[in-house]
Amino acid sequence: MKLIFLGPPGAGKGTQAKRIEQVHNLVQLSTGDMLRAAIASGSEVGKQAKKVMDGGNLVSDEIVVGIVSERLKDKDLANGFILDGFPRTVGQAKALDKILADSGDALDAVIQINVDDEFLVERITGRYTCANCGKGYHDTFERPKEEGVCDRCGSTAFTRRADDNPETVRERLNAYHAETAPLLPYYAEKGILKTIDGMVEIEQVTGQIDEVLNGIK
Ligand code: ADP
Ligand code: ADP
Ligand code: ZN
Repeated sequence: MKLIFLGPPGAGKGTQAKRIEQVHNLVQLSTGDMLRAAIASGSEVGKQAKKVMDGGNLVSDEIVVGIVSERLKDKDLANGFILDGFPRTVGQAKALDKILADSGDALDAVIQINVDDEFLVERITGRYTCANCGKGYHDTFERPKEEGVCDRCGSTAFTRRADDNPETVRERLNAYHAETAPLLPYYAEKGILKTIDGMVEIEQVTGQIDEVLNGIK
């Protein structure tokens, strides 16, 4: 299955992708994670991306499409993937259609995780991640069972993203409404857009996604 999880920053795309990939044997492809890896590597692309990401703006289509098209060649994706955070512009969506069509493929579904803006600042400013295994947490909504210890790997080191602050969140929301929301009609016209309610508990959101996926295959 080839899926896109679409929604504003903080909607729960990463949280849900990590839950769904295990059950459905898919691979989560997060362009945010790929860009942060490029920054950590100190590459030229990483340097360019860092400036843009710190301001809450979108990295250029050229850079992001380049990174994704390379990753899509990898053999571990044979059973399918979940794109998390890509595409974010109509230009990226068209580039993806072409990459897939060139190998005789197409998307199975675009799952819109619908969350009103008023929820998102709290979601993002409370977000943190296990520094060892990448499991996501939230100060209020998703705390580890034992305070300060990762449920999944037992690590006691956690990180917060530099761009998860209230000022940058507002810029990121502006970018979402201006550049990414136009993807909703784009995929609706193709008949593959499925919208679910992202304002309920994490488990319930997963349940809705499962229902959509069971309806596909
Ligand atoms: P995205 O990948 O869309 O930016 P995340 O999956 O990182 O969003 O979620 C943002 C934050 O909100 C995380 O800290 C996560 O634990 C929390 N979160 C995700 N889904 C929900 C939900 N349904 N209810 C409450 N908090 C949530
Ligand atoms: P979130 O889901 O919380 O917005 P991501 O990790 O997906 O966070 O993205 C973090 C930042 O990385 C974005 O604000 C943007 O600057 C950059 N980025 C990620 N994916 C893309 C993309 N497909 N196109 C352009 N910029 C991107
Ligand atoms: Zn961990």
